[in-house]
Amino acid sequence: MSRALDKAGTWIGWAFFADLASGLALTIGYMFSRPVTMQYPDREKWLPYSRYRGHHFLKRDEAGEIKCVACELCARICPCDCIEVVPYEDENGQRHPAKFEIDTARCLFCGLCEDACPADAIALGQQYEFSSFSSRDLVIGRDDLLAKPGKAMTGGGVVAARLNTAEALQVEASALRGYDWWRNIRRR
Ligand code: SF4
Ligand code: SF4
Repeated sequence: MSRALDKAGTWIGWAFFADLASGLALTIGYMFSRPVTMQYPDREKWLPYSRYRGHHFLKRDEAGEIKCVACELCARICPCDCIEVVPYEDENGQRHPAKFEIDTARCLFCGLCEDACPADAIALGQQYEFSSFSSRDLVIGRDDLLAKPGKAMTGGGVVAARLNTAEALQVEASALRGYDWWRNIRRR
């Protein structure tokens, strides 16, 4: 009986040693491989994919007029109830938004407002740097939405960037395409 226990103990010991050796091999392997850490935001910046759903923006038509006809469909379909539209009619009977606000602190960036819009007036763009210490700053009005950047045209990647702290905290990147960060991730 005691010999059988001794044998089992030896096997368990070898099993733990094999685990330890495999863990150490992995650690040593990573010590000599290329680092995968992205130096965000002061040296590198991620460019979103074209299908990325970032901050909303409102569109204008060819004449420069806001496309939104204040039908409120986006507000109705929004699962977070974070869009508020107040319509008005101009002298020609055309509807426009007197007030168009999105509370991005509550938004889950599902894109349903973009899908529901019959006028192709609202979409989710490429901006993802809009965090704030105050939730009040995350309520964005019509004019700010008209000034927001549109859809990303490039296909993702990481580009060299510079953190500008001279006036406000801004990440500046000039390249349109970057390297594929995912290729640095080691996979077995
Ligand atoms: S993305 Fe979704 S949650 Fe956000 S405003 Fe549009 S419908 Fe609402
Ligand atoms: S953005 Fe589109 S869905 Fe929303 S109120 Fe304007 S026209 Fe209607």
